[in-house]
This record gives sequence, structure tokens and C-alpha cells, in this order.
Amino acid sequence: MARKRILVTGGAGFIGSHLCRRLVADGHDVVCLDNYFTGTKDNVAPLLGSTNFELLRHDVTFPLYIEVDEIYNLACPASPIHYQFDPVQTTKTSVHGAINMLGLAKRTRAKIFQASTSEVYGDPDVHPQTETYRGNVNTIGPRACYDEGKRCAETLFFDYYRQHRLNIRVGRFFNTYGPRMRPDDGRVVSNFIVQALRGEPITIYGDGLQTRSFCFVDDLIEGIVRLMNAPDDVVGPMNLGNPTEFTIAELAQLVIELTGAKSKIIHMPLPEDDPMQRCPDIGFAKRALGWEPAIPLAQGIERTIAYFKTIV
Ligand code: NAD
Ligand code: UDP
Ligand code: UDP
Repeated sequence: MARKRILVTGGAGFIGSHLCRRLVADGHDVVCLDNYFTGTKDNVAPLLGSTNFELLRHDVTFPLYIEVDEIYNLACPASPIHYQFDPVQTTKTSVHGAINMLGLAKRTRAKIFQASTSEVYGDPDVHPQTETYRGNVNTIGPRACYDEGKRCAETLFFDYYRQHRLNIRVGRFFNTYGPRMRPDDGRVVSNFIVQALRGEPITIYGDGLQTRSFCFVDDLIEGIVRLMNAPDDVVGPMNLGNPTEFTIAELAQLVIELTGAKSKIIHMPLPEDDPMQRCPDIGFAKRALGWEPAIPLAQGIERTIAYFKTIV
């Protein structure tokens, strides 16, 4: 594969750090951009010795002038507690960040990938979610800064695609988990594992009957790289996720079983606008990329538990 100069925004975050590792291993020149809002240098520490890897402290809401061949735009806090901490900044990151990275792509004629999300579907009334479903998002709720920011970013990507003939890719990631999630990330998989390992109560929000479909990060990375390298008529939006659906109560049971924890389960209030069900239809990714997740939940959770045992 030809060596490319690749920018990964949000590269010091959970998914970004796995993507950087993959691209460095593939022999590319990788610039990892991050403002360290939720990411850490520790996540990319093993890459720091590589001559084809460099770190750039920068906020995507400000312009950036460098020369690159490809951009993966992942900068944006993804956990509800983090993206709701400063919601105005979250929208700015998605919208101004997309404008700046698209401007950079336009000037350099770089191919550009947007990390979109299943949150563009909101609390879906179509199940499983196909890419043609237009979603059910509350425009003024606490999740809107993230959901609408990501929706607007998709709009910008497709306008630059039509208006400026940019080579774009849009992947809609569904819930992803794995090593290098922060212990205080706040998302369900890391919360449950950390609680179990510490012998603390497992906090189920609501009755636990809401569903999610969890994708192990290695599977997602393979899907992202395949979409970026697909023929130019495969632009997306494309769902990338694991179509096996679980209730949150089932996830809690699995984590208790696999950790052997004595934790009891407690129920806490369901956050406002928390989607009741989520499951991707990945037919498009299967047909266009020959991709589907290979790692079942129990196996991925075991690997994630092994990681958290080393840090909590
Ligand atoms: P994360 O919070 O671990 O990573 C986000 C990274 O972006 C962090 O390193 C953070 O410091 C950085 N960042 C935030 N604002 C920035 C800014 N203004 N300028 C520069 N850097 C900034 O989250 P993640 O789970 O790795 O998510 C990565 C991307 O994937 C995000 O765009 C997220 O919306 C998307 N996504 C993730 C999931 C998931 O389940 N993890 C699902 C759907 C979409
Ligand atoms: N931009 C950037 N790096 C570049 C080129 C542009 O950060 O290499 C930013 C620039 O600040 C601009 C945005 O991207 O505001 C959009 O650029 P575009 O050329 O599309 O729009 P214009 O400059 O005409 O507003
Ligand atoms: N959740 C939970 N306990 C927790 C954290 C989350 O029951 O400690 C629930 C949350 O209400 C939601 C689901 O787990 O229904 C997934 O939450 P997460 O924040 O991981 O992702 P998202 O809601 O963005 O899919």
C-alpha cells in the first residue's frame, strides 16, 4: 500500500488511538491531532517512538494549515456526560470542526472521513435502523448538541461533496467498546466493568430493558479503514456496528458473570431522551465492503475486562 500522510482528529481518544495504531502499523505517516478534552497522551504513548507518528495539540474549531492526503475526522466527545458538560463547545466541535477539516480537505484535495453516529437516528421508531431512515431527534433536548451537531456535520460533508467535488466518506458508528475507554468515560460498558472490578453496585439506568448493540473496537477499525479505501462511489452514510442486540440488563449480567463480581444491581433514573432501542442494519456495509463484525460480545467484554484490570 502506498505510504500516505494521514491526519486523525481526535486521535488521542478511545477509537482514534486504535485507528492511529492501525495506520502507523500499515506504514503511513500519521498526524494525531487532539485537544485532550477526553483523550490522553497515554492512549498513544506506545506510538510515540515511531518516526511515522506525530502528535499535534490543536482544537478543530480553529483553522489548521498542514499538507495531508487523507483526513479521518473523529474529534468530538462521545460519552453523554462529557458531551453534555459543555454543550455549546460540543456543537462547535462538530460543526466548526467539520467546516475547518472540509476546508483543509478542499485546499489539499485530501480524501476525508467523518465519524458520524447512530445518534443521528435519535430515539428511533424504525428498527433495526437502515441508512435511509431519517431519525427521530429532539432538537432542543440535552442530547441535541451531539445529535444535531453530527447531523449538521453530515450535511456539510454532502454539500462539500456536491459543491466542491470532495472525496468524502461518512460512517455512522453504533455503540463501540474496548480497551482504552476511560474508567470515568461514563458509557455503559466501561461503567459496568469498572463497578464490577471495584465491587461497587452496577448502576442500571431505568428498568434496563432498553437495548444497544455493542461493537468491539477492532471490528469497527476494520470497517472504518475499509470504507475509507472503498471505491470512490461508496461514500455512505454507512452504518458500522454490531447487529447483535442486547438489553442493558443482559449486559450487566454478562459483566457480573465474566468478572465474577459480587456487585449488586441498583436502578437509577433513566436520563432524558435516552433511546429505547438501537440496532444497526449493516446490509450496506456487508455488500459494499464485505465487512461484518467478527468478535462476539462475551469475547470482547473479556478483552476489555483484562484491560481495565491493569488500570483500576
Ligand atoms: P473519545 O471521547 O474517547 O474521543 C474523542 C477525542 O476527540 C478525544 O481524544 C478528545 O480529546 C478529542 N476532542 C474533542 N473535542 C475536540 C476538539 N474540539 N478539538 C480536537 N480534539 C477534540 O470518544 P470516542 O468513543 O473515541 O469517539 C470518537 C469519535 O467516534 C467521535 O467523533 C464520536 O462521536 C464517534 N462515535 C463514537 C461512538 C462510540 O460508541 N464510541 C459511537 C458513535 C460515534
Ligand atoms: N481551512 C483550514 N485549513 C485549510 C483551508 C481552510 O482550516 O487548509 C478552514 C478555513 O478557516 C475556512 C474553512 O476551513 O474557514 C472552510 O474553508 P473553505 O475554503 O471551504 O471556505 P472559505 O475559506 O471560502 O470560507
Ligand atoms: N447506562 C446505564 N448505566 C450506566 C451507563 C449507561 O444503564 O452506568 C445506559 C444508558 O442509560 C443507555 C445505555 O446504557 O440506555 C447506553 O448508554 P451509553 O452512555 O453507553 O451510550 P448511548 O446512550 O449514547 O448509546
